[in-house]
Amino acid sequence: KSKDNGRNTYHFFEEEMDAELQSRKALEVDLRKALHAEDFRLFYQPQIDLASQRIVGLEALLRWHHPVRGDVPPKEFIRVAEGTGLIIPLSEWVLRTACREALPWAPLSVAVNLSPLQFQQRGLVAMVERALAETGLPASRLELEITEEILLNDTEHTLDVLNRLRALGVRIAMDDFGIGYSSLGYLRRFPFDKIKIDRSFVADLNNSSDAQAIVRAIIGLSQALNIHINAEGVETLEQANQLMADGCQEVQGFLYGAPMSNTAIGDLVTSLGILSGADDPALKAAS
Ligand code: C2E
Ligand code: MG
Ligand code: MG
Ligand code: MG
Repeated sequence: KSKDNGRNTYHFFEEEMDAELQSRKALEVDLRKALHAEDFRLFYQPQIDLASQRIVGLEALLRWHHPVRGDVPPKEFIRVAEGTGLIIPLSEWVLRTACREALPWAPLSVAVNLSPLQFQQRGLVAMVERALAETGLPASRLELEITEEILLNDTEHTLDVLNRLRALGVRIAMDDFGIGYSSLGYLRRFPFDKIKIDRSFVADLNNSSDAQAIVRAIIGLSQALNIHINAEGVETLEQANQLMADGCQEVQGFLYGAPMSNTAIGDLVTSLGILSGADDPALKAAS
């Protein structure tokens, strides 16, 4: 009897795995179609300088509205894209679109997330160069976000690519800092322009002395190394005040603004009058 049960369980798992594989395959097919039809959108989340309380940059975040499934979380479809190689053309689309859409939002910078897989590809530096040349975005306005994962293997090659990207005039930010597996040694080997404290630390900031100690240590470290600091996932005023008191320079999070469509961002930055091209006399008169 127990043997029968075991067999049933086995069949059940097999069917379930089958279903998961099917759904993954279907997602892959749909991703391919979506890329072809340009069914993706970029949303942009404001990055705020704490001292001036002004928007200084925007992080581009990929969105996919699936005709049947609705909005698919990026973590989910990016994993599938990474498993199939689709991440390469998709990433190129993201980079080019972010550079093109952000061009009129000067002097704001735009931050684009890179996949670790792009570092295993030869053409990354050339691709970035091409996107800048084709869109006319000054390199100084582009920031590339990487995660500690890319420093795990083939470090020499990775550091070489990062140095060549930086030589273009592009800034490099370390995303999700503090939850990865790398040693701190890489902070000496590569001069990051920015560290983004992972939002899990920010979430615990006001109820965990450990999280607060870690955040302070990261800020202290970045100050000593002269690296700009950003805290992600700021949702409350308490968190913002604590971060400001601890010397954090830049924040992003729902408190200041969720990721928004390009039209919403365009309207926002126009109404705030922060565009360098915006010397509209009406705006000046109003201020
Ligand atoms: P990330 O780069 O760390 O992006 C920040 C994530 O935190 C975004 O999720 C953003 O919507 C969310 N977030 C921002 N403020 C808050 C807040 O106050 N509270 C909370 N709970 N969340 C907040 P999203 O857009 O779902 O993206 C998830 C991840 O997917 C990103 O994490 C990034 O790793 C990846 N991703 C997104 N777009 C791209 C892309 O174009 N290329 C690549 N390679 N990865 C991307
Ligand atoms: Mg990011
Ligand atoms: Mg992050
Ligand atoms: Mg992340």
